[in-house]
Amino acid sequence: MLKLYNTLSRKKEVLKPLKNKIVGLYTCGPTVYWYAHIGNFKTYIFEDILRRVLEYNGYKVKHVMNITDVGHLTSGADTGEDKIEIGAKREKKTAWQIAEFYTKTFKKDLKLLNIKEPNIWVKATDTIKEQIDLIKILEKKGFTYKITDGIYFDTSKLKDYGKLAGKKKRKLKAGARVEIVQGKKNPTDFALWKFTPPGVKRQMEWDSPWSKGFPGWHTECVAIAVKFLRVPFDIHCGGIDHIPIHHTNEIAQSEAVFGKNLAKFWLHGEFLTLKGSRMGKSEGNIIILEDLIKKGFNPFAYRYLCLTTHYRSKLNFSWQSLKSAQNTLNNLYQKTREFQQRFQQRSGLWQSDIGSDRGRVSDNVSDNLIGVERMVNYQKSFLGFINDGLNMPKALALMWKAIKDKRLKIKDKRDLLFDFDRVFGLDLAKVKKPRIPQKIKKLVELREKCRQERNWQGADESRKEIKQMGYWVEDTKKGPKIKKL
Ligand SMILES: [Zn+2]
Repeated sequence: MLKLYNTLSRKKEVLKPLKNKIVGLYTCGPTVYWYAHIGNFKTYIFEDILRRVLEYNGYKVKHVMNITDVGHLTSGADTGEDKIEIGAKREKKTAWQIAEFYTKTFKKDLKLLNIKEPNIWVKATDTIKEQIDLIKILEKKGFTYKITDGIYFDTSKLKDYGKLAGKKKRKLKAGARVEIVQGKKNPTDFALWKFTPPGVKRQMEWDSPWSKGFPGWHTECVAIAVKFLRVPFDIHCGGIDHIPIHHTNEIAQSEAVFGKNLAKFWLHGEFLTLKGSRMGKSEGNIIILEDLIKKGFNPFAYRYLCLTTHYRSKLNFSWQSLKSAQNTLNNLYQKTREFQQRFQQRSGLWQSDIGSDRGRVSDNVSDNLIGVERMVNYQKSFLGFINDGLNMPKALALMWKAIKDKRLKIKDKRDLLFDFDRVFGLDLAKVKKPRIPQKIKKLVELREKCRQERNWQGADESRKEIKQMGYWVEDTKKGPKIKKL
């Protein structure tokens, strides 16, 4: 039973997929005018964990993500410039080149952080027709009005507008100072279609029934979600900053058109902070993935760091905390390597070694049963933690408990690690087995040759030399086996 915290109801609810075993998941994608920073990636990592937990539970996930390559204005409301066009001016490129470059960079960063790609990527500019069609329906139903700079959504036409953010936030927002667009009926009304100002030639603009222009940011996600998922679909995610405006306005459009909410579950990731304040481009304190790599960090260390804090909690970033995440991760890789190596030795070729180890393989049936039970208990606890609103810190702690548990067999430890890693995504299965240096391999070959020629003295000398270099060679039915001392 998977329970997720739903921002809409403000409590944990049991997920019951609307379509048999298939979960429709929509995650708001990047605005591709600049590098996504590690604060953005905190959210993408949480969404990746969610997807992996769904898959771990046996669901198939249909994951859709948009790429905002037009229409996201600098103020986040309806004033300011289009972020993509600003990027184009800054870098003396076309808006299309900017969008393409930062889309590529974003996808590359996802890969570096081992975040699974969505099944369906959709660019805003590839769905202009769908967005216009959606606005046409809103117009027909009487939810829109036209002012000098665009077509707007009249939020007063919906009784429970703003329910995602709750009453408190709604009041705050109405009272907050916002840049006022002349002619807007209510402060919360938002642009569906912005007109290209007279005498201006935008790089990205399209014809529409109203005027040449471009769509507003909040319409894009609705049009895309409707095109690729059903309404309502199962889960919609984003950063916590999307609650009061972006997601609130997505819900408004969906309720106006379909009479129902866009999604059943709304999940939001908390901010990454730096010295107590939110990381953001406007705050001027952003760190990008490349900065981490330049300082010698493995991007997986950042992924690990994010796992140590619940996604609904703020994570205060410091280089020191990243360093300690890197150390812990290295330790985890080292343990994985050890388990791999020791299990391989034990599973066939190093039987003589077994007696000396506490986690030994036993022929005793009842011993084995106890072992299986222990392992099953770990798996049950793990499922309990991840299914309780994605409690990754507890799941991580459980993993370390299993690693240190002397009653668990090496093989079981290894299997548990690989099993848990289906959710953690730390690529433990790719941890390389220790490499045997070429020089040692040559000496082992030489020793074999001596043995075949019954040159026992030569064989002994080779073995001594191998030992001096920190390795041990054991003769087995399948030939010599090398071990690091
Ligand atoms: Zn969105």
